[in-house]
Parts: sequence; structure tokens; C-alpha cells
Amino acid sequence: MDLTRRLATWRRVVLLPPLLIALALLIGSAQALSSRPLARAKNAELRSGYPASFGRPLILIDAGHGGRQPGAARPHSPPEKDVNLRVAKALEAHLEATGRYRVELTRRSDVTLGIRARAKRSRRLRPAAFLSIHANATQAETSDRRGSMLIASRRQRPRVRRSSEALARWLARGLDGQGFPLRDGPRKPEKPRSFDYLAKAPGVWVTQRRRLGVLRGNTRPAVLVETHYLDNPADVAAFQNDDAIGRFCQGIEVGLLNFLR
Ligand SMILES: [Zn+2]
Repeated sequence: MDLTRRLATWRRVVLLPPLLIALALLIGSAQALSSRPLARAKNAELRSGYPASFGRPLILIDAGHGGRQPGAARPHSPPEKDVNLRVAKALEAHLEATGRYRVELTRRSDVTLGIRARAKRSRRLRPAAFLSIHANATQAETSDRRGSMLIASRRQRPRVRRSSEALARWLARGLDGQGFPLRDGPRKPEKPRSFDYLAKAPGVWVTQRRRLGVLRGNTRPAVLVETHYLDNPADVAAFQNDDAIGRFCQGIEVGLLNFLR
């Protein structure tokens, strides 16, 4: 090998590594650029729980109790299972009429449905929001307690838990905007490890107990809505009224709209 050829080989050997490094850097930055929209999409999903590209978001409405499980029963009100189903169907009609959502119900009639089956349905359908509709009651036959409660579970995975709390806040604000009273409570638990429900904001409550399996077993943003008190005759009378239920649906819809934005 003469000197010029040897020099050329030496140059190739010396120049090859920097060239390879430059190429790797170029590929790396191209990948980073292309993954940026992906990261944005991921963040958007965290906020709303539903990528816009999926079209109209799905809302899964769960009418609490049913069939052999009547829920709360008070002398001035129909059984809770019937009240819940009526509200759930009204909400379904209201949301569908806006043209902005797809809606599914966990039950459409007076059937017994287990907690696990409800949570499983949500895991399978992956809705943008899961709303379990209930009505509240104290231990008394009648009381003057009032106010809606939006309950999230601390037992969900952290990311989902934050979304569920955000959903609860938006729903509470939506109901407040329609003039519904919100049930407030203590902001600090007296016994932090054992508290059942802790008020985070007016109307927004969080539970850390293992109860409320419909929320605990849910992998989607999930809130249990206590619409009103079945032992409060004035509230019961108001909630028999289509106008009040309409305003309730409107408040929920405003809440969903803000949550999904
Ligand atoms: Zn209930």
C-alpha cells in the first residue's frame, strides 16, 4: 500500500465515528420533533380523559341500585332506584339532544346490577366520564338537609383520581350555576386515616374508604352524584318536577363541557 492510499484509509477511519455520531443526532432530533405532537395529545388526554380525535365523547351514566336493591326508601319519596333511573334517563336525553356526546346507560330498567358489573362496563367502554346517579338520605325519616354532593374516590390510581376530582369540581360548579345548593363540610378530617368523606370544595367530596366500588373499580374519570335528599320533603317535591330535573341536567352538561374542553 503506497502512502496516499494509506492516508485515505486513515482518513476514513478517523472521519467515520464523527459522521456516525452526527447521523445519530440527526435521527434523534427528528424523532423528538415527531413525538412532540404525541406528547401534546397525551397531555390533552390527561386533562379531558378523551382525545378529540375520537369524535363525540362517550358519557356512561349509571343509575344507582335497581331491582332487588331499592337504595334509600323514605316515606315522602319514590324508592331511590326509581328516582335515579328517572334522572339518568333525563340526563341521557338532555346530553344526546345537544349533539355533543354519545351516551350509554348501565341499566335502563328496574334490574339488579352488581357494583362490579357497573365498574367493568366502564373499563370496557372507556367513557370520557362516568357518572353514577344516586340520591342521598340521612338516618332520619325526614330532615331539612339539602344539597348535592359530587363524590370522587381516593382509591383510584393517582392520574385518574386527579381527573375524577377535576370532573367533580366542574360538575359542582355547573350545578351551582343552575341554583342547586351544594352540600359543604369539613375541609380537614378529624382522623385523617379513617375519614369517610372529606369536602374539597363546595359540593366536592372525596372518600378514601374501600366503599363505593363503582368508583374504586373504575379506570376512567368517575364521580358519584348525590342529587338531593330523599328525606327532605321540599327537595323531593322539587325533584319530581321536570323543570328541576332539566336544570339539573343543564348544570351537569355545563360541568362536562368545561371538563372536556
Ligand atoms: Zn344510592
